[in-house]
Amino acid sequence: MSGWRKTLDDLAEAGLLRRPLIIESRQGPRVRIDGADYLCFCSNNYLGLAGHPALAEAAKAAADQYGTGTGASRLVSGTMRIHRELEDAVVRFKGTEAAIVFPTGYMANVGTIQALVGRGDTVYCDRLNHASIFDGCRLSGATLRVYPHRDVDRLRRLLGRKREGRALVVTDTVFSMDGDLAPLPDLAEVCERHGAMLMLDEAHATGVLGENGRGAAEHFGIEPGRVPVVMGTLSKAVGSLGGYVAGSRDLADLLVNKARSFIYTTALPPAVCAASVAGLRIIEEEPERRAALWARTRQLHDGLRERGFDIGPTETPITPVIVGDSAQAVELSQRLFEHHILAPAIRPPTVPDGAARLRLTPMATHTAENVQHVLAALASQGRKL
Ligand SMILES: *Cc1c(COP(=O)(O)O)cnc(C)c1O
Repeated sequence: MSGWRKTLDDLAEAGLLRRPLIIESRQGPRVRIDGADYLCFCSNNYLGLAGHPALAEAAKAAADQYGTGTGASRLVSGTMRIHRELEDAVVRFKGTEAAIVFPTGYMANVGTIQALVGRGDTVYCDRLNHASIFDGCRLSGATLRVYPHRDVDRLRRLLGRKREGRALVVTDTVFSMDGDLAPLPDLAEVCERHGAMLMLDEAHATGVLGENGRGAAEHFGIEPGRVPVVMGTLSKAVGSLGGYVAGSRDLADLLVNKARSFIYTTALPPAVCAASVAGLRIIEEEPERRAALWARTRQLHDGLRERGFDIGPTETPITPVIVGDSAQAVELSQRLFEHHILAPAIRPPTVPDGAARLRLTPMATHTAENVQHVLAALASQGRKL
């Protein structure tokens, strides 16, 4: 027990102790904390759907019809009509043959990677991939080869080495701390040439990128079916909770039979599935939301660059404001909090040493004035540091 205290004290001393804020309102462009309103610039609720009344209505109707819990895992008696409706909605949205839904995106990554590769196989991972991908790689027992960020040449050389067993290449399509994009056309080509499976994590691209919001593969014009394994989450732009994997019928059947995080956990509640179906429908029917998100994104990027901030290589709403020093990043975040702006500091080990930053994310439901307010606050506070 005393060891726990020491661990916590060490974290506190390094300025790395974290604890959650309590949000007292709906998730939206503004949130209430301790009775006061804050502009929320750190949510993945990109399109504002997490607080949308249509999703809440769908959830209520499903709870009325089906109750709250599912009582069992998907393969026992937990699969209900609404799970099938949700998986059909994902199939329509992604244009694949089949899809299956896990309770979270984290579980989708862990279970899928474990189902696809094991001891004797090799998995190739971009250095900046999401933690859930790394956890899946480690749990799989496959040999893990980490390649430098976005470095297709290096990946090509790694894949060219003699190997036995299967090869799986996994990448985020939008990297979650820098907002840059994986070079998908080159990755697809290299994987095809070397007989490797390609798996994409579209967590931050779903609902955000591509003409119809289908993700980065759509953005790059890569047709559905060319990438064998496409994972994404229903908990960010879709406004609900759950992870999906879209691909062939065989892939879906394999996951149902082999993915431990699908098999050994209780099925998602009906209300959550119904909210996801409603969220996907709004993404399909209201492209103006995505247009608003991108308008706010451009405004934020241009405004920060004009004011001399380093926002790195972002090409998406994920907007790092790179400060460098952890203590300074925390201080800048606190100053913004005093201005009623929520934008937490991201520190090592989440980002490399010396690359502490704020991570701002605009939403479709922010106004131009909201973004202006953040820019003005950053310009005045940033200079004082
Ligand atoms: C958020 C995220 C996940 C996990 O999704 P959840 O639904 O939150 O569990 C996986 N991959 C990436 C890249 C993410 O950003």
